[in-house]
Amino acid sequence: MAFGEDYLRTVGQIGNFTREVTGVSVIDSYFGPMKLSQEKLKGRWRPEKLLEEIDSLIERAKDIDKELRRIAITSDLESLRVVVKWLSGENIPYAQLVEGIFGVAPRNFGQNEIRKAQGAVEDASVVLKGSGVSEKIQRWEAESKISGDMLKKMIDTEIVERTNEVTKLFEAHIFKHLPAKVENKGIIYKTVTGEPWSGYNYYQGDYTSVNVFNIDMPFRRHRLMWTIWHECEHHIANLFKEKYYRKNKSLDLSALLLHTKRCVIDEGTADCTRNFLGLQVDEKYSQLIESLSSLRSMINLNVAYMLNVENVDDQTAAEYVAAEAYMPIEDSRKTLLFSKPLTANGKPNFFKPYTYTYFFGRRDYVLPTFQKAKKKDKLKEFFQTLYLNPYSRSTATWKTAFSGI
Ligand SMILES: [Zn+2]
Repeated sequence: MAFGEDYLRTVGQIGNFTREVTGVSVIDSYFGPMKLSQEKLKGRWRPEKLLEEIDSLIERAKDIDKELRRIAITSDLESLRVVVKWLSGENIPYAQLVEGIFGVAPRNFGQNEIRKAQGAVEDASVVLKGSGVSEKIQRWEAESKISGDMLKKMIDTEIVERTNEVTKLFEAHIFKHLPAKVENKGIIYKTVTGEPWSGYNYYQGDYTSVNVFNIDMPFRRHRLMWTIWHECEHHIANLFKEKYYRKNKSLDLSALLLHTKRCVIDEGTADCTRNFLGLQVDEKYSQLIESLSSLRSMINLNVAYMLNVENVDDQTAAEYVAAEAYMPIEDSRKTLLFSKPLTANGKPNFFKPYTYTYFFGRRDYVLPTFQKAKKKDKLKEFFQTLYLNPYSRSTATWKTAFSGI
């Protein structure tokens, strides 16, 4: 049997396994042959069988000719091996779990780093009226708060308009560097409640997406814009992946996976949309928004560490977020949902390692390479590699893929 088909059968079985244990499939999107979709697979493989098949695929992947493709696929399989071991009950400490899946070593930002980030927020908060940095920020955010109902109403109007604007900017700043157009049938927006994330891009295949906002989460104007840009980039990146799959018949690309080193680059890239396109929510507050976001990312990572390594309780963690990231306590509690060890119904939280993708993907990979390319007048090469070679989008291949920049 051909490698591509065996690969899809194995990741499909892993998808069914992770869905059974956590409620979430490791396959984030699928647009391959229907008969190989995870829903159509017969029987359920035990974790031992899954691990055997992963090892056999890693062995067979050595024969893949193209270097980036060989490295990316092998690395994905190695990450999946850690996921299967974790969810089959093997006791893997959190730091090893995150490092095994994403290649990022979890760490606590120390007091000095946090104080420095808070100092930047404090400096930027001079544009706000009032006294006391926490009080000023909380008042400003309360004023720009978007409630769930308001967000629902904005979906057919403002959010669609903003998406069209961003898509045009992608054409003007990025697609102009690419030799051919990509088909784009657009994004449909929906809202949900009860999820641990704020927004999600469900790529549907056939060049379309459903982007979802979780109206339980606290949205402010700037946070909403950032989420629109972020999810929009996921949609566009996925259009290119689908196009590549259809042209090259690379079956492995027809199943987009969570929990691999590709996610670090995908999330880092989506968070770089504002840098690629020169976007700002509001010039007056841009410094404040950037510094606050950076501080909150660090606090979020620290809290993931506290919850999963130091085993602190929810109340202590929420109080930490509220005090250090200048947030109302009820909003702080909601931010814990993404990285808590267990979900509300007592299952392992599939997303708990995932919080490590965004910050490091942007800071250590995508942003510095983009900035270097811009400085050296190599944006064409940068965007062509990033969008036209899907195998460049993994921390396992990044350095090699962008070695010409
Ligand atoms: Zn994302």
